Amino acid sequence: MTATATTKIANPRDIAQNVMTLISELNLQPTPQVYHVFYSYLTDEVPELSQLLKVLIRNTQELDEETVFRVYHKYLGCNGIEQKLDQGVEGLQAAVERVEEAVQSVMIDTELFCDEIDTASNTLSDEDISLEDTRAVTEKLSKVSKTARNRYGNFSSDLGEYHQEVRRVRSELELVRRDAMTDTLTGIANRKNFDTSLRHAVTTTMETGAELSLLMIDIDHFKAFNDNFGHRTGDGVLKAVARVLRNSTKGADTVARYGGEEFAIILPDTSLENAEKLANKLRDNVSAQQIINKKTGKTFGKLTVSIGLTNYRLGENILEFVDRADNALYEAKQSGRNTCVSQ
Ligand code: GH3
Ligand code: MG
Ligand code: MG
Repeated sequence: MTATATTKIANPRDIAQNVMTLISELNLQPTPQVYHVFYSYLTDEVPELSQLLKVLIRNTQELDEETVFRVYHKYLGCNGIEQKLDQGVEGLQAAVERVEEAVQSVMIDTELFCDEIDTASNTLSDEDISLEDTRAVTEKLSKVSKTARNRYGNFSSDLGEYHQEVRRVRSELELVRRDAMTDTLTGIANRKNFDTSLRHAVTTTMETGAELSLLMIDIDHFKAFNDNFGHRTGDGVLKAVARVLRNSTKGADTVARYGGEEFAIILPDTSLENAEKLANKLRDNVSAQQIINKKTGKTFGKLTVSIGLTNYRLGENILEFVDRADNALYEAKQSGRNTCVSQ
């Protein structure tokens, strides 16, 4: 091969082409993260990343998607967020400086305008003022007011730009916030999001007395699945399960990846009985999934989940609540998997 981090490629189109060639030569999927890692490698954006990839490319057996995913998170995932935050802050600082300058110049102009009006008023208060002088004063005033109007016009457009900048930064920050709360593989809520949402749900329940249920869901024999069909297919299964969970729940529910091949669903305003009904529906919907190998057309066998569920008991702390759902999940595993247990 071919392109390395030291290759000088100036044109972005060439870089993109080289990134794709490299990814395909390494037999990897061009996911956004994989693309970002190799783009960064070819442009030498992060020297430590380039160094590491150089070694990994030499030893291609170790270069699978999971490794690239880890490289992405180590060198680019957080950096990306920090970079966006830095850009947002810089953009706002620049906008604030521009507005400050505009305010300064409007203040100076206003002062000059007032001086001119004072002078004109003094001149006009002279009873013996000639017609010619009066005309000169009014012409001067008209000129000064025209200048002031122009300045105010500029000021208002500066303010408009400033507001636009604030809106841009705000939506950028919203993306960053969403990014930080989303699991990159499955697109559902991540663990951090789950913790925050659960705290919020428990607080609401304590305030209103409304019911609150929690489901812990774990894929059965997932390790064997990974071992038999490979990590990439395993990732595909995680995505498929996440999709089923999301499509089988409603907007107020939080579907999260709790960790590895374990998911959790927070169900506000839901009794244990209804949570049980939903858990069984989820179990059915997951096992109805056909995981097919696109190359061979063969199915990968039955996909099942075990589910533990529980209802919030007023006064208990969050850990007790989560532990009980966890224990119920453990019981579901013990009693043979592909089942739901409530506690
Ligand atoms: P059980 O029925 O008792 O839950 O068995 P299991 O094999 O599902 O559970 P175990 O905890 O033994 O194995 C979980 C596996 O999930 C091991 C780990 O490699 C895999 N895993 C965790 N996170 C990911 C991931 O992001 N992608 C893939 N492909 N596999 C993952
Ligand atoms: Mg499992
Ligand atoms: Mg597990």
